[in-house]
Amino acid sequence: MTSPLTTALAQLASAVEILGYSPGLHEMLATPRREMHVAVPLRRDSGEIVLHRGYRVQHNISRGPGKGGLRYAASVDIDEVRALAMWMTWKCAVVDVPYGGAKGGVTIDPRQYSQAELERVTRRYTSEIMPIIGPERDIMAPDIGTDEQTMAWVMDTYSVNLGYTIPGVTTGKPLPVGGSLGRATATGRGVVHAAAAALADDGVDLAEVRAAVQGFGKVGSHAAHWLHEAGTRVVAVTDVDGGTRNDDGLDVPALLAHVATGASVSSFEGGTPVSNDEIFALDVDLLIPAAVEGVIDADTATGIKARWVVEGANGPTTPEGDRVLADRGIVVVPDILANAGGVVVSYFEWVQANQAYWWTSEEIAERLAQRMHAAYGAVAETARDQSLSLRDAALAIGVRRVAEAHQIRGLYP
Ligand code: GLU
Repeated sequence: MTSPLTTALAQLASAVEILGYSPGLHEMLATPRREMHVAVPLRRDSGEIVLHRGYRVQHNISRGPGKGGLRYAASVDIDEVRALAMWMTWKCAVVDVPYGGAKGGVTIDPRQYSQAELERVTRRYTSEIMPIIGPERDIMAPDIGTDEQTMAWVMDTYSVNLGYTIPGVTTGKPLPVGGSLGRATATGRGVVHAAAAALADDGVDLAEVRAAVQGFGKVGSHAAHWLHEAGTRVVAVTDVDGGTRNDDGLDVPALLAHVATGASVSSFEGGTPVSNDEIFALDVDLLIPAAVEGVIDADTATGIKARWVVEGANGPTTPEGDRVLADRGIVVVPDILANAGGVVVSYFEWVQANQAYWWTSEEIAERLAQRMHAAYGAVAETARDQSLSLRDAALAIGVRRVAEAHQIRGLYP
C-alpha cells in the first residue's frame, strides 16, 4: 500500500513542478518545521503500566499558528502524522485561514480503553507537548479516535498548568467550555457544500443524484445528514464494521438514530449488507470516502462508477488511484478543499474564544458556506485556466500561499 507520506510528498512534488520552485524551496516545503516525539506511559485501571507513543508535528507555521487534529489509533506512526500535518498546511492556506499546519497522534486504540484511562493518556500526552502548543503556537482539534471530551481534557490540562482558562488552545470543544455552534457538523457540512459546487459546475443539483458514503464517524455521518437534507438519495454507507445499502435510498434520520445508540450501521434494519470494498463499486453518482487514507488505489479506482468523488477523509486516494480516476474522467474534489469545513469552523471557534464573543448558528452556517464556495470557486477557476485537475489546482494555490508567506518574511538569518 502507498503510505500517506508517499502520497503527500508526491502531491507536493506535482505542485512544485506546476509552480516552478527551486529544489531548495521544495525541500523546505517537504520537511516539517518542528516535531516532538514523546513517551506516554499509562497506568491502566488494573494497575498495569503500558507505554504508548505520542507525536506532534508542526509542518509549517509561516502563515500563523500550527493547526490540526489529534488522532488516536493503534497504527499511528510518525510518517502518517507528518503527512496529515502537511495536508493541514495546504488545507488552511486553500481556505485562507491564518494558520500553518500541524497534527498529533498517539498509538492507542481508544475502543480498548476506559474513559478514565483515555483521560489519563490525554492529560499525560498534553503535559508532554505543553512547550510547543498554545493558542498562538499550535491549536488542536478532534480527529479519528478523539472527540469533544478529549479536547476539553487537553484544554483543562493546559489551562491548569498555566493557572488560568485558555479555551483557544483547542477547537472542537464542548459548548459549555468555549466550543462553537456548528463545529461538530462542520466537516460533513463543508463536504456537502463542496459536492454541491462541483455538481453545479456540470449543471447538476444534489437532489438529482445517488450517493454512497464510506465512513460514518465525525465526517461521514454528518455528510449523510446534509446530503439527505439537500434531497440526495443516500443509497449506501459503511463504518469499520461493515455497511448497509438500500437502492431506494436509506432512511438517513432513522440510520442516525440507530447509530446514536452506539450500534454499527451494519446492523441497521432498513437496508441490506454491503462491505467496505463493495461500496466503492456501487452504481452511484457521488462517492464520498470519509474514513482513512489510501483506500482508493489503482484497483479500487478502476471499479468506481461514480462521476464525482468528494474526499471527506484526509488522503483517501493514492497517486496511482488519482491517475486512474483522471484517465476515466471522474471529477475528484480533493481533501484539502472538500473536508476543510472542519478547520474553517475551528477557526471561527478560536476567533470567538479569543474575543469571548459568540456567534449564532445562522452566522456560522452562512460564513462556512461562503468560505467553502469561495475556495471552491478559486480552485475551479485555476483548474480551468491552467488545465489542471482540481487536486493540482488546490495544491498549487495552497503551496503558493505558504511559499509566498515564507518569501515575504524572508529567510532568517
Ligand atoms: N482533524 C480535522 C482535519 O483533518 C480538523 C482539524 C482542525 O479543525 O484543526 O481537518
